[in-house]
Amino acid sequence: MATPVTLIPGDGIGPAVTEAAVAAIEATGVDIQWIEALAGMTAFEEKGDPLPASTLESVAHTRVALKGPCTTGVRGGFRSVNVHLRKEFSLYANVRPSRGLPGVDCLYPGLDLVVIRENTEGLYSNMEHWVDDQKSAAIAIGINTRSAMERIVRYAFEYASSRGRRKVTVVHKANILKLLTGLILEIAETMSSEYPDLEFDDRIVDNMAMQLVMNPSQFDVIVTTNLFGDILSDLCAGLIGGLGLAPGANIGGDMGIFEAVHGTAPDIAGKDLANPTSVILAGVMMLEHMGHLDEAKRLEAAVLSVLEEGKYVTRDINPTNGVGTKAMTQAIVDRVKS
Ligand code: NAD
Repeated sequence: MATPVTLIPGDGIGPAVTEAAVAAIEATGVDIQWIEALAGMTAFEEKGDPLPASTLESVAHTRVALKGPCTTGVRGGFRSVNVHLRKEFSLYANVRPSRGLPGVDCLYPGLDLVVIRENTEGLYSNMEHWVDDQKSAAIAIGINTRSAMERIVRYAFEYASSRGRRKVTVVHKANILKLLTGLILEIAETMSSEYPDLEFDDRIVDNMAMQLVMNPSQFDVIVTTNLFGDILSDLCAGLIGGLGLAPGANIGGDMGIFEAVHGTAPDIAGKDLANPTSVILAGVMMLEHMGHLDEAKRLEAAVLSVLEEGKYVTRDINPTNGVGTKAMTQAIVDRVKS
């Protein structure tokens, strides 16, 4: 019987890259029943709600979703759909691998690191206000609970040890935000003694940003709070060739929402320019999560082979002879089936 999976196309390049991912996943022969659900600006325009109840009900039912990026207004507009979804379903671990891919010209071709970002707390508490009617100052409240910090640090150590990784680095700003970010440091230091086979160290976030640019291979699994993880994972995507290549998973218990690290890319939307790799690799993570390990391997091998060959890749990878999203997707589909 087909396994139901919620498909959220999202906004901007979202529909194009999720369509690509569906085609690539289906080429593996896996039996999935896609249940399409709206979110983001598209949902707001069609239903007056960026995250309709029907979408939440679908995800609650299927427990697994493949999601395209959704628009979030800068300064004003509706609350972030992503933050809402992650909080609604306690998808507390945002797993964002950055791996140098074959055939992709980038700063660090051999890089292989994973950012594990706490996904539900910190400065993403949705508690912000002006202090007066003149808007003379703004306040945002950051909350990091001991239980959520323990949960994410445990996830990172378990992730590292179960996948044979060598090291965990906790990133914080405990020299200034001594309580808000000192908590994850304290917990990670204590928990590290339970994992004697893993190296463990810590970095202050500003130093971490510099060291990631200068010498990223000293790191392996990075665990950090919400905002730092958001920023550092984009930085890491830049190290391996850009946002079009970095997948992400939002995990909590048996539930998972899989998506690209990138956003809606309004500058290239509707132009057949988007690189589908990141959302297809998010599909690989989704297949692994669902236990379809052979299909995941075959799909990943097909993506890597198309990238390595370099003939059917989008222009962010090959600016002179790149092809469109559709042609790259077709090459991946053909490779999966061959
Ligand atoms: P963005 O990731 O959409 O784009 C940044 C740059 O990367 C752009 O130049 C874009 O063209 C390029 N890019 C992104 N994805 C690409 C791809 N697949 N192939 C080739 N190039 C690609 O970031 P932004 O412009 O800061 O944000 C646009 C919108 O997306 C905002 O509304 C933001 O809130 C939203 N956003 C959503 C998510 C999500 O839903 N998970 C994540 C990040 C941003």
